[in-house]
Amino acid sequence: MSNPAPPPDDQTSLRAYPYVVVRFRCMVCRRQADVRLAVLAAKFGPNITLGRLVGMFIDGCWWSPRNLARKPQKYGMKCGGHCPDLYKAGPPDLPPSMAGLTLIEGGGDDMLPAEPAPIERRRRVGGDWEEGG
Ligand SMILES: [Zn+2]
Repeated sequence: MSNPAPPPDDQTSLRAYPYVVVRFRCMVCRRQADVRLAVLAAKFGPNITLGRLVGMFIDGCWWSPRNLARKPQKYGMKCGGHCPDLYKAGPPDLPPSMAGLTLIEGGGDDMLPAEPAPIERRRRVGGDWEEGG
C-alpha cells in the first residue's frame, strides 16, 4: 500500500495543491467561488498559499473582520470563508460534469455478451505427462 499524500492545508501552496479547481465557500454571507488553479496561479503566482487566498476571499465579505465600513463588534458575526477541500483526505466531491467519468468496477460482468465467447482449447505439446502430485 502506498502512503497517500497528506491533505492540503492553509500552508499548502498552489504549486502543491492537488486539485484542478480551488473552491471557496462562506456559510455566513453565502458567497461561493470555484476558481481554476491555473487562473489563480497566473494571477498570484504558484507559491501563494491557500491560507492567503482564503484570506482574500474573506476580505471581499461584508462580515470580514477587516471590513472598515462595518463597526467592529467583539462578538459579532464573522465571515466564515474557507476552502472546503482543505484538511480533507481524498478528492473533492465535484459535480459530475467536473469530475469526469468514473469506472464502475465489475460493471461489465452484468452484461450478457452478444455472442458466446469462443471456447479456448489448449493443445498439449510434448506428450502426456502426468500432472499433479
Ligand atoms: Zn463571508
